[in-house]
Amino acid sequence: MNICLYCYALLEKPLTWSNWLTIEANSVLCETCAAKLKIISGKRCEVCSRAWNGAICSDCQQWRQLGENIEGNYSIYYYNETMRDLITQWKFRGDYVLREVFRKDLQRAFEKQFASITPSIAAVPIPLSKNRMQERGFNQSLALAEMLDIPVKHALGRNSGEKQAKKNRKSRLKRGNPFFITEALQQPALIVDDIYTTGTTVRQAAQQLKLHGCPAVYSLTVARS
Ligand SMILES: [Zn+2]
Ligand SMILES: [Zn+2]
Repeated sequence: MNICLYCYALLEKPLTWSNWLTIEANSVLCETCAAKLKIISGKRCEVCSRAWNGAICSDCQQWRQLGENIEGNYSIYYYNETMRDLITQWKFRGDYVLREVFRKDLQRAFEKQFASITPSIAAVPIPLSKNRMQERGFNQSLALAEMLDIPVKHALGRNSGEKQAKKNRKSRLKRGNPFFITEALQQPALIVDDIYTTGTTVRQAAQQLKLHGCPAVYSLTVARS
């Protein structure tokens, strides 16, 4: 396809020495849109990938006190306005093909951060409840997991409850764990998802996986809000 997947501008790609790197990095967006997606750079929290000037951020220190259950999260982009619009268009308007925007960077981040840790790692999508799945038609987490060159394990199910987005962090923490195990994994798991916000979702999923024998849980997310 020869149009930008986000703004539909025609892609003109004259290949020159000055632009071939950028074009290779993101060949489904026009240069203007690609430039608006900012890769997280500089120092970040070792656990959750938040831009942070120290080893471990204050949130992750709190998680440690509660009993940390993830090995770490790696996020690729900042959750800025363009990223928010892009994810909204992708997920809520069902513009499935937009996942192509993330393919290369997702694969690259996996190679860099996780490929060497363990060869037996499996991707675990965060499930949607049945109602949500019917509403939306696809699961963004699975859509991302499928783009990695590792097995995808549907190890978790999800009870339908109230919409997460409407709850604040405190009430989300108070609520029970929405996930349950459908397949116990005896290998390390990589949870793949679009956004890491409070880190609650990934830790609830990790709790279920670990209770059923999973030795280590990592997470790879497109954006860190
Ligand atoms: Zn564009
Ligand atoms: Zn952190």
